[in-house]
Amino acid sequence: MSESRSRPGALVIGAGIGGLTAAVALHQRGWRVTVLERAPAVEAVGAGMGMTPNSLRALDTIGLGDTVRSMRTWSDEGGLRTPSGRWLSRTNQEAAAARFGGPFVPLHRATLISLLHSRLPEGAVRTDTAADVADPGGEDRRARVRSGAQEWEADLVVAADGIHSPARSVLFPGQPGPRYAGFTAWRLVVPAPDVAYPPHETWGRGALWGTQPLHDGHVYAYAAAAVPAGQRTPDGELAELRRRFGTWHEPVPAILRAAGPGDVLRSDVHQAAAPLPAFHRGRVALLGDAAHAMPPTLGQGGNQAVEDAVVLAHHATPGTDVPAALDAYTNDRLPRTGEVVRRAIRVGRLVTLTSAPACALRNAAVAVVNRLGPHLELRALDGIADWSPPGHQGAVGVNGTRKAGS
Ligand SMILES: Cc1cc2nc3c(=O)[nH]c(=O)nc-3n(C[C@H](O)[C@H](O)[C@H](O)COP(=O)(O)OP(=O)(O)OC[C@H]3O[C@@H](n4cnc5c(N)ncnc54)[C@H](O)[C@@H]3O)c2cc1C
Repeated sequence: MSESRSRPGALVIGAGIGGLTAAVALHQRGWRVTVLERAPAVEAVGAGMGMTPNSLRALDTIGLGDTVRSMRTWSDEGGLRTPSGRWLSRTNQEAAAARFGGPFVPLHRATLISLLHSRLPEGAVRTDTAADVADPGGEDRRARVRSGAQEWEADLVVAADGIHSPARSVLFPGQPGPRYAGFTAWRLVVPAPDVAYPPHETWGRGALWGTQPLHDGHVYAYAAAAVPAGQRTPDGELAELRRRFGTWHEPVPAILRAAGPGDVLRSDVHQAAAPLPAFHRGRVALLGDAAHAMPPTLGQGGNQAVEDAVVLAHHATPGTDVPAALDAYTNDRLPRTGEVVRRAIRVGRLVTLTSAPACALRNAAVAVVNRLGPHLELRALDGIADWSPPGHQGAVGVNGTRKAGS
C-alpha cells in the first residue's frame, strides 16, 4: 500500500486493540501494513480490561501471549458478592485454568496498546488521520481509502474504527447504528488500597461494582448503573460514585478514598442494534466493535476483537484472493461473535435489574446454582473462553506452562 497507488498492501483504519492486533498479525504474515488513526497519538482511552484465555491464545499466534500471561495477579479466591459483602459464588485462577486452559489477566489497556504498537515497524501508524472508505473494491479492483485530500489504494482494508464506525456506514448504509444498552459505566485505575481486596464483582439493585488487582501495584475498578443515557454529574463522577457505592463492602470505599476526581472515566454503554449481514464487503473487513459492539458484561469486546484480528490474518495471506479470504473470515467470525453479543446482552439484563424482589430472586438463584455446580462466573464463559485460534498448539496452564495435546 502506498500513496503512489502502485504497491500492494494492507491498510488498517483505527489503532485500538482490534486494529493494532490486526496490523501486527498481518505484518507478521508478510503484508506491508499502514495504520491510520484519527487521534493525535496511539493511546488507550479507558482504564483496565480483563484478558481471557481465548484471546491470550490468539495473542500466542503473534508472540505476545506469554508476555501478557506474565502479568496475571489473581491467586486469591474471588467471585460474585452482594453489596454487604456476602459471597454468592467463588472461584480462582486454578479453576479458570483447568476449565479454559489458561489464566485470566487483568491489565491496563495502555499496556496492551503499547505492547502491540511496539511490534510494528517504525512509521507504520499515522496519527491525526481520520479515514473513510471511498470504495470497498472487489475481485478486480483495489479498495480506496480517503483522508481529506489524500487517497490510498489497498489490496486489503481492515476497518477497526470502533463502535461508531464510519466504515460500517459506508459498507452497510441501511444498518441501524448502535443503541444505548440501558446503563452507564465508570472506570478507574488507582494505587492498590491498604485493605484486603480479593477480585470481585458485586451486584446490587440496578448497579454493579468490580475490582481487579493489576500486576503493577494498582487496582482496576469498574462500576455500572441503570440510568437514562446522557446524564453527567455536576459535582463530578467521583462524587457520584461515592454517593452510589460508598457504603458497599470493602475494598469499594477504600478505592473511592484513594481516587482523585481526574481518575474516573464515565461512558454510556452502547451495543449493536442488529447483527450485520456480513463482516466484509469487497476488500474491506470490519473488525472488533465496528463489527459487533457488545455490552461489557462478559468482558469480551476487546477479547473478541483480538480473536477477529488473528482469524482475519490466518485467512488473508499476501497474494491470496482477498474477497474469498474475507468470505471465510465472515463465515468464521459472524456466528461466534453473534452468540457472544447475545449472551452479553442477557447478562446485562440480569445485572441491571432494579426491583428489590427481582434482585433478591436473582441472588438466591445464583447462590443455588452455584451450590449445585461451583464456579458459576466461569460457566458464563463456557464456549467463549475455551476457544483456540486456527493452528494453535495446546492450552496454556495457569503458570504459563503448555499442556501438550490439549
Ligand atoms: C466499561 C467498559 C469495560 C470494558 N471492559 C472490557 C474487558 O474487560 N474486556 C474486554 O475484552 N473488553 C472490554 N470492553 C470493551 C472494549 O473496550 C472494546 O470492545 C474494545 O476496545 C474494542 O476495540 P476496537 O479496536 O474494536 O475499537 P476501539 O478500541 O474503539 O478503537 C477504535 C479506534 O479507531 C479510531 N478511529 C475511529 N474512527 C476513525 C477514523 N475515521 N479514522 C481513523 N481512526 C478512527 C479511534 O480513535 C480508536 O483509536 C469494555 C468496554 C467498556 C465500555
